[in-house]
Amino acid sequence: MVRRFNRLLYCVRSNFHTSNGLASKEHYKIVVVGGGSGGISMGARMKRKVGAENVAIVEPSEMHYYQPMWTLVGAGAKTVQASGRSTASVMPSGVKWVKSRAIKIDPKNNTVFTECGKEVGIRTL
Ligand SMILES: Cc1cc2nc3c(=O)[nH]c(=O)nc-3n(C[C@H](O)[C@H](O)[C@H](O)COP(=O)(O)OP(=O)(O)OC[C@H]3O[C@@H](n4cnc5c(N)ncnc54)[C@H](O)[C@@H]3O)c2cc1C
Repeated sequence: MVRRFNRLLYCVRSNFHTSNGLASKEHYKIVVVGGGSGGISMGARMKRKVGAENVAIVEPSEMHYYQPMWTLVGAGAKTVQASGRSTASVMPSGVKWVKSRAIKIDPKNNTVFTECGKEVGIRTL
């Protein structure tokens, strides 16, 4: 119950600050699901190919972790905190950050559905 409430609060907050309503639909040429190292790199590459305004990255986490550093964390040479940066700081500039979790991908209709009720349309999936 508390977890569900926190998720709802999170959705309201993230939609509030991007000034998008719940259950809105946006369209992009490229949508990357997951803003980890792979997703951020792919988003940056796609931005160069099709332009930032045509790329969205769906990523719920405020923090981005550089996992290779975790080997050093395990060895006691680094802290977990040192491996993290804010997702905002690694998001390619101009690319749309859809701050939510993808819950369904509908390849027939080229749509990604998020936990916050947003539908993200993709020209090419
Ligand atoms: C200890 C360790 C050491 C490593 N060392 C090396 C190395 O030396 N060299 C090397 O090349 N690689 C190394 N790797 C591997 C490398 O870190 C990974 O290959 C890389 O992080 C994978 O990137 P990714 O974006 O695919 O996944 P991740 O970085 O895991 O990112 C996945 C992202 O998807 C998001 N996500 C999850 N579910 C959803 C959802 N439903 N909707 C939207 N977003 C979602 C998560 O929040 C996360 O941000 C290491 C990994 C580990 C754990």
